Amino acid sequence: MFDVLIIGAGLSGLTSAYKILKKEPSLTIKILEANNTIGGQIATSKSNEELGGRKLTADQTHIYNLLTEFEVHMKRHLPISKNLKRSWSLDIGNFAFIAKLELQRYMNHLDLRSQLFRPGTYELKSEDRKYTMCHHINDSMLFQNSRKFMKSFVRLVTGVDANDISFVEFMNIVHSCGNLKSLMKLYIEPSNSVFEFSSEQLLGVFLARLEPVSIKRQSKVVEVCHHNDYVEVTETNGSIHCARVVILAIPCNQIEDIFITPPIPLEYEIPYLGDKYYITSFLVEYDEPHWRRGGFSGSFYSADPPIFAQQHKQTSLVGYVMHEHGFELLIRSILLKSLAESFGKEMTEPVKYHQQTFEQISLMNLPCTTPWNRIIWSSTSMATLYRGCLNGAVQSGLRAAVHALLILRPQSVIWQDLAEIQKASVVYRYPSHWDLMKSSWNVYNTAVYSTIALVAFCMLRYRHKIFN
Ligand SMILES: Cc1cc2nc3c(=O)[nH]c(=O)nc-3n(C[C@H](O)[C@H](O)[C@H](O)COP(=O)(O)OP(=O)(O)OC[C@H]3O[C@@H](n4cnc5c(N)ncnc54)[C@H](O)[C@@H]3O)c2cc1C
Repeated sequence: MFDVLIIGAGLSGLTSAYKILKKEPSLTIKILEANNTIGGQIATSKSNEELGGRKLTADQTHIYNLLTEFEVHMKRHLPISKNLKRSWSLDIGNFAFIAKLELQRYMNHLDLRSQLFRPGTYELKSEDRKYTMCHHINDSMLFQNSRKFMKSFVRLVTGVDANDISFVEFMNIVHSCGNLKSLMKLYIEPSNSVFEFSSEQLLGVFLARLEPVSIKRQSKVVEVCHHNDYVEVTETNGSIHCARVVILAIPCNQIEDIFITPPIPLEYEIPYLGDKYYITSFLVEYDEPHWRRGGFSGSFYSADPPIFAQQHKQTSLVGYVMHEHGFELLIRSILLKSLAESFGKEMTEPVKYHQQTFEQISLMNLPCTTPWNRIIWSSTSMATLYRGCLNGAVQSGLRAAVHALLILRPQSVIWQDLAEIQKASVVYRYPSHWDLMKSSWNVYNTAVYSTIALVAFCMLRYRHKIFN
């Protein structure tokens, strides 16, 4: 019997193991990982390319501190010259400039509104569910391109379609994800406030520091059975492991596949999450940067399917495509065709091409922050700060480690451990009514209210004419 069994060797599982080992080296830990490689969404691809998460902003303090402690080098992302053009479907058309302004204003509005929504402090009513993000976007923005961009962005942040998530649910998620402006910087338009690190180096340090921990690869867990004073975990091949505490360091949409007995209470239950989406990350390299000939920076966005790309090194582009299940084999041709339409036909002949597909994490659940007896929840989808990001994975991993220690060796937990997991890196302040009103005054409103004012004016004139 082990003291701690961790299911999932992603960033959150590895962080939990490291923290427990650092505090109590005498505890026995085992990690079970479904894949052949460790790291989950930060794992390197078969060709050793780093195609998963590797960017952070300085306010993501949990991952920042971990990288500093591990002496993993972080380099600032170099922004591409402002004189170069982007090839975004958002930049096309006569009203492109206003469409972009409208999008910025809308994101600012959502960021301000999200501060009024604290997870768990309201009850989601059935009428709230009917008003989806798709409705909100259509009601708040006038331009098709900015609407399409925002819908892709909702999917990128939450892992679900804008049609399937209500406005209230989205606001709640934004509250625990940091804010939309910094997510935009992280995933789509990195500036020099974004840092990049080598995920391979981070995983190397983890492996060196977790030497006493046994990591079993290719062991997918299918059942977790809770007994009075221990937990029994079964793999697909029937192998059984027992431990005093189990940490489920896997995203919610993957917990669905595990049979838990006795059934977990309702408040811990993961809601039905709908269709799963996938994200294929790619690296495409050319003999020369063909996009420069047309004066482009290499930043690229197309709406259907949503593709985001940016220049990585002088001659290569990195980015991702969001898609449904079964499209992985078509991604290469779809991507090269879209790039060729924007930057010329040479783009169809890269010298190097790599891709890696990940299941997108869905954030529709409320994060479970308290353990259920000996089952402890972890993974970025259970975090309360920068949920869905690297920081969320580290924060939830640290929290799970503290919970495990509180069950096994409570005397080893000190106040700093508790403070570390509660520390908010984002200072929330309630926006003033004036700020909220200003931010909601967008092109759509202006157009609608001007039309109403015009109609009212015409009617008054007409009445005036009749009575005189
Ligand atoms: C392409 C891409 C780019 C990203 N870029 C960034 C970025 O720049 N910055 C940022 O902050 N975030 C980024 N992210 C998000 C970030 O990488 C993730 O939030 C984070 O790595 C999640 O870590 P995790 O440990 O919670 O989950 P995961 O990494 O998903 O780990 C879960 C692990 O559990 C294993 N597992 C699942 N089910 C079972 C089972 N039944 N039995 C055993 N093992 C199981 C999985 O194989 C996996 O290894 C990106 C994500 C993707 C996909």
